[in-house]
Amino acid sequence: MVKADFSRSDQALLEAASATARKLADAGHTVLFAGGCVRDALCRRPVKDIDIATSARPEEVEAVFKGRSVSVGKAFGVIVVLCGRYQFDVATFRNDGAYIDGRHPEQIHFSCPEEDAQRRDFTINGIFCDPFSREIIDYVGGLADIERGIIRAIGSARERLEEDHLRMLRAVRFAAVMEFTIEAQTWQAICALAPRISRVSVERIAKEFVRTLCEAPQPSIALNMLRESGLLVQFLPEVVALYGVEQPPQFHPEGDVWTHTGMMLDGVEAPRDPVLALGILFHDIGKPVTYSYQAHPKTGEKRIRFMCHAEKGVKMTGNIMSRLKLPNSLMVAVQELVGHHMRFIDAHKMRRATLRRLLGLDNIHHLLELNRLDSLCSNGDLSGWEFAVDQFEALKDEPALPPPLVTGRILIEWGFKPGPQMGLLLKKLYDAQLEGQLTTLEHARKMLRLR
Ligand code: ATP
Ligand code: MG
Repeated sequence: MVKADFSRSDQALLEAASATARKLADAGHTVLFAGGCVRDALCRRPVKDIDIATSARPEEVEAVFKGRSVSVGKAFGVIVVLCGRYQFDVATFRNDGAYIDGRHPEQIHFSCPEEDAQRRDFTINGIFCDPFSREIIDYVGGLADIERGIIRAIGSARERLEEDHLRMLRAVRFAAVMEFTIEAQTWQAICALAPRISRVSVERIAKEFVRTLCEAPQPSIALNMLRESGLLVQFLPEVVALYGVEQPPQFHPEGDVWTHTGMMLDGVEAPRDPVLALGILFHDIGKPVTYSYQAHPKTGEKRIRFMCHAEKGVKMTGNIMSRLKLPNSLMVAVQELVGHHMRFIDAHKMRRATLRRLLGLDNIHHLLELNRLDSLCSNGDLSGWEFAVDQFEALKDEPALPPPLVTGRILIEWGFKPGPQMGLLLKKLYDAQLEGQLTTLEHARKMLRLR
């Protein structure tokens, strides 16, 4: 008899889940651990949360946990039970009726564990375990698929993916995160139905995608699956466009922009910070549209160039991330990485004030890491990165950037008009301050030729 192994999991979580299950069992109900927790325990991974499935109807669950339950998902037979600092989804065994909108079942019927297993998405997610003996109850062949490393839809793959299109992205995520392969029929169904992913809300798509990017040991494999299946082009055509974009071989012996981007993502250990992961994904997003083959204006050297691709990339990143309804704060941070990713090339020539500002950016740690990977995954020249890290270390002992001596308000008091000119003036004055040439307001008035 195979048992689930929860030894790598939070034991307090496990105890709370077992105590919750015990209360239901004592009231005469069948109760099982279900879904992701059983899968992760069988893979000897730490489980993050524990889902409980039971024969008790939602009202019966509420009666057992009087005052300690929340009935948000009651229509789907799910009651949230609170237990100390933990909470558990307690779901009545059910079978889902016909699906209406490619995402939700029209009706649900309460039923038995066998049928409850059948309504789940993939065999690896359809296994139950006894909460007390930890013995496995497997109606769908999930254990064998875990052993073989296979993601397989339960029942007819085509039907399961037609019911709920988000399952296509879930299949890729589970395959990438667990380093499993997608079984042939499931894969074929994904390829056939890929365009339908656009019927799923962008929020859900973005959530699955960002999780995949942040959690997969090798995101390049996930990106290849997403591109080859035809899923990626539905929500990130700009990323698909990186595929096949040639780069000058002397700087990029690794190959096209797609390969380069995937290598960089693989170079960061999971779990990745979404700022860094998306920063890498989008850092060269401006390359396909700025591609040119031309001579250098001064040296005359002819080669592939991507003029102003970082600036273009910032705009594109903004468009993409707004379209995917990702949080604004995340977008601003990612744009910072994209916009500044080329700046370390001439860091050694920078004026001190400019360098200080660059190294004072909010996301400088991510930017430095992105730069290191950018070099490592191309020609391997780390000199720009090393210089920046040395400077960063040296600057640490200096006080933080001082507030600007001259502000917009002061300039207005002095008779200047707000506008782009004033912005330039403020930058010039602040640079002078950082260089040590401007120490008083008197000084500033002199520089501006005011009396
Ligand atoms: P993770 O929490 O790591 O994403 P999980 O398997 O726990 O993995 P959840 O979304 O928490 O995923 O769902 C819990 C369980 O509910 C799954 O294991 C699966 O059995 C079932 N499930 C979730 N989403 C779907 C779906 N879209 N279609 C069918 N079954 C699903
Ligand atoms: Mg889960």
